[in-house]
Amino acid sequence: MPQIVRRQAVSVMIGNVRVGSDAPVVVQSMTNTDTADTESTVQQVAALARAGSEMVRITVNNDDAAKAVPYIVDELAKKGWTTPIIGDFHYNGHLLLRKYPECARALAKYRINPGNVSIGRKDDDNFRTMIECAVDNQKPVRIGVNWGSLDQALLTRMMDENSKSHQPREARDVMMEAMVVSALDNAAAAERYGLRRDQILLSAKVSNVRDLLDVYTELARRSDYALHLGLTEAGMGMKGIVASTAGLAPLLLAGIGDTIRVSLTPTPGGDRSEEVRCGQQVLQSLGIRSFMPQVTSCPGCGRTTSTYFQELAERIQNYLVEQMPEWKQQYAGVEELKLAVMGCIVNGPGESKHANIGISLPGTFEEPKAPVYIDGKLFTTLKGDRIVEEFQVILDEYVEKRYGRHLVVV
Ligand code: SF4
Repeated sequence: MPQIVRRQAVSVMIGNVRVGSDAPVVVQSMTNTDTADTESTVQQVAALARAGSEMVRITVNNDDAAKAVPYIVDELAKKGWTTPIIGDFHYNGHLLLRKYPECARALAKYRINPGNVSIGRKDDDNFRTMIECAVDNQKPVRIGVNWGSLDQALLTRMMDENSKSHQPREARDVMMEAMVVSALDNAAAAERYGLRRDQILLSAKVSNVRDLLDVYTELARRSDYALHLGLTEAGMGMKGIVASTAGLAPLLLAGIGDTIRVSLTPTPGGDRSEEVRCGQQVLQSLGIRSFMPQVTSCPGCGRTTSTYFQELAERIQNYLVEQMPEWKQQYAGVEELKLAVMGCIVNGPGESKHANIGISLPGTFEEPKAPVYIDGKLFTTLKGDRIVEEFQVILDEYVEKRYGRHLVVV
């Protein structure tokens, strides 16, 4: 596989997590609980961290939320979670950070939206207050531009200048340029107000895939700040997953991006951790990081008319998700494991041989038996109605044998 040449961004420490430079691309997520509801927020942060979120952002939008932050961080620590907690500020961050110094201290990073921190002002005193607070507490900051809340004064000025130029550009191009300028100008201001380069990350989120590619390509070209990638308001379900993947993949393959988030709209009562698994899967599919054993399964066709094959593939996938929290502790490297669950003899044996463990199920008119391959060689052939259970035993034994820490007795 050709190597990805990573853009060399400045390295930033966020709590106990390093991002940028040669550090692994980090997966992060955000809660959707009311931060002041500390019990729900602690629970959701823990669930996101358990799913593999390496940083979690929470809304800090009012006094109650700011008061709750230190308690949330403490409660998580008592439960063994040291995942960095990032405060998401809009409009009133300058007031909350000064009024609640314990909140400012407890957070691992502040996210500042330059588009709404100084609304209605001619100066940038509110932005400056937040940066000074970050400097006082030695916290990194993400300057997070979002096209839905882009600095309107900046955009208007750039649109005016464009309309007066000899060769005016398309309004869309001016808007993308305004996103980049807003991020870079505010980063320069943050440095003037005392923040170091290795305490600054940038993001410039848009909701259209091609805009995302343009804006981040330009940000990467013009600066070496660490970049947080994400398609904003990606949407629900399949649309959100496909659009996010389409946006993130070309950038990550070009070596751009130091942290990512997949901003999925959950279904009512849905599992928020879906966005974490989706981010991990993007990185794993691109061969950038491994998080979970991968199951290759065929789509099925007219040769697999029963649902048996789909059920088996689903049960094995679910089994892996259940086992992984424990396996990760016990079996170093298990996330590299490759499985194949195939529907019939056409590609089944071939694909199974490329996996660490593969099973080729019988197609509709085939003999009712399922050959199992281990590291490319036929290991056994399963028959009867306990194929799944027997396959899981083979899987467990393989994991123990290959990834277990075996004591050498001398
Ligand atoms: S492996 Fe067999 S069942 Fe699966 S898609 Fe190919 S032909 Fe169909």
